[in-house]
Amino acid sequence: MTRKKKKKKKSRAVLTAQRLSFPEEAAIPWLPMLLDAYFIADKGIAAAIGKRLNNGEKLACARGCSSCCTTHVTIPVYPLEVVGIYWYVIEKMLGPERQALKAQLNEFGAGKACPFLIEGACSIHPMRPLACRHFNVFNRKCDPGEDPYYTRRHDVLTPDERYKNRAVAAMLPFHGIRDRAEKKRAARSGVLNKQVKNLHEIDWKNLAMRMEGRKPPLKA
Ligand code: SF4
Ligand code: SF4
Repeated sequence: MTRKKKKKKKSRAVLTAQRLSFPEEAAIPWLPMLLDAYFIADKGIAAAIGKRLNNGEKLACARGCSSCCTTHVTIPVYPLEVVGIYWYVIEKMLGPERQALKAQLNEFGAGKACPFLIEGACSIHPMRPLACRHFNVFNRKCDPGEDPYYTRRHDVLTPDERYKNRAVAAMLPFHGIRDRAEKKRAARSGVLNKQVKNLHEIDWKNLAMRMEGRKPPLKA
């Protein structure tokens, strides 16, 4: 009798994404749009990371690793994402973290680390922008001041464009674009991309004022 050799099965990493949810969703029409967009993006990111893990690579990003948040000074944010950050900070942040963030928003200026980075962690992690979600690095942590996109592009995750585009499309209803054909037209023209701002160029002092229940002055 011949003994068949048992093949060792390689375990494959299957990463899953979970949709965020907040009890306020029913009362805030834009909130489900943003959470859907983040869920779509997170699913694409999980699938793309899973593929690379199964190829034997190691994800370097982990909680407490945050030099990217001090190095990167161009972080694109969509209008709905800014609304989401405002809401999350004003409504959800509490205690010492809230006070620390308010101080950082007031002191924020050119050349500084992202104002939402508090003690080495992202204080708005559930509502961090798509750009931050998409930036993932493999094999070794970034050196201080290193942007691996330029130093070792092969270690930086290339997110799946289909998920990226679908995530952006999920935000279109916020801009009154709901119809399927209209959405397609908007995606082709990149209408939303024209409204993207750089997180580092936003006047976050206005958010600090809102945190105190004060209205920022109207711009002339
Ligand atoms: S991008 Fe670099 S610095 Fe940021 S979490 Fe990943 S490994 Fe750490
Ligand atoms: S929003 Fe959060 S993840 Fe993005 S750069 Fe700022 S601290 Fe880092």
